Amino acid sequence: MSSIAVCPGSFDPVTLGHLDIVTRGSKVFDKVIVSVLNNRTKQPMFTVEERIDLLKEVTKDLPNVEVDYFDGLLIDYVKQKQANAIIKGLRAVSDFEYELQMASINRKLDDEIETFFMMTNNQYSYLSSSIVKELAKYNASVSDLVPPVVEEALRKKKQHT
Ligand code: ADP
Repeated sequence: MSSIAVCPGSFDPVTLGHLDIVTRGSKVFDKVIVSVLNNRTKQPMFTVEERIDLLKEVTKDLPNVEVDYFDGLLIDYVKQKQANAIIKGLRAVSDFEYELQMASINRKLDDEIETFFMMTNNQYSYLSSSIVKELAKYNASVSDLVPPVVEEALRKKKQHT
């Protein structure tokens, strides 16, 4: 049986922290599906389509990585994709409580699907999409936090708002 993992998130926009988790995950699993959560309650900066395009661009050199989106329950989506694992990144203790709750609920819903946590690369432990958007808003450099295409996309977004 091949191992397929889903890496879910908002990716609004994708950062080098996300990319690090996806790249490392792609070395362990046969296939990684990076999936954008279409969360209608949040007000995102980038549309789902824009987030998907950026993710595709930055993962184009990883042949076993696929990009998709989902709404509804993560566990239903994971089953629909015939995946058997969920990958999440952990940045700090503050991520832990929420992730423990999610992993426990997901195990209760389907104990055949395992959640794997990967510790952030130290250099990205403070990095989140929100921080990137905040910096970009005030024209601070984000060049060592996001891939160049994302930096460009942030610049364009700013011009149009
Ligand atoms: P955020 O909006 O907080 O940046 P997402 O909801 O897009 O995050 O996160 C998707 C996944 O990526 C989550 O498992 C999250 O913990 C992980 N992640 C986000 N940023 C980092 C980072 N800098 N290092 C490691 N994992 C991260």
